[in-house]
Amino acid sequence: MKIAVDAAICQGHTLCAMTAPGLFRLRDEDGHAEVVDEEVPPGQESLARDAILTCPEQAIRSL
Ligand code: SF4
Repeated sequence: MKIAVDAAICQGHTLCAMTAPGLFRLRDEDGHAEVVDEEVPPGQESLARDAILTCPEQAIRSL
């Protein structure tokens, strides 16, 4: 499973990083999210799906 954050849509709510801190981090420059690694580590797919559903901007998508 691969995931990505659309930086043009992300509003920096941080919910993804709170839901799955191992998968997302917030950029220092603007507080928007980015994926730690496009490839979701084995066993963390459920967390990735939770983050996709939690994002209020629908900025996270699976590839
Ligand atoms: S929850 Fe969505 S809008 Fe908020 S920081 Fe994460 S990707 Fe961006």
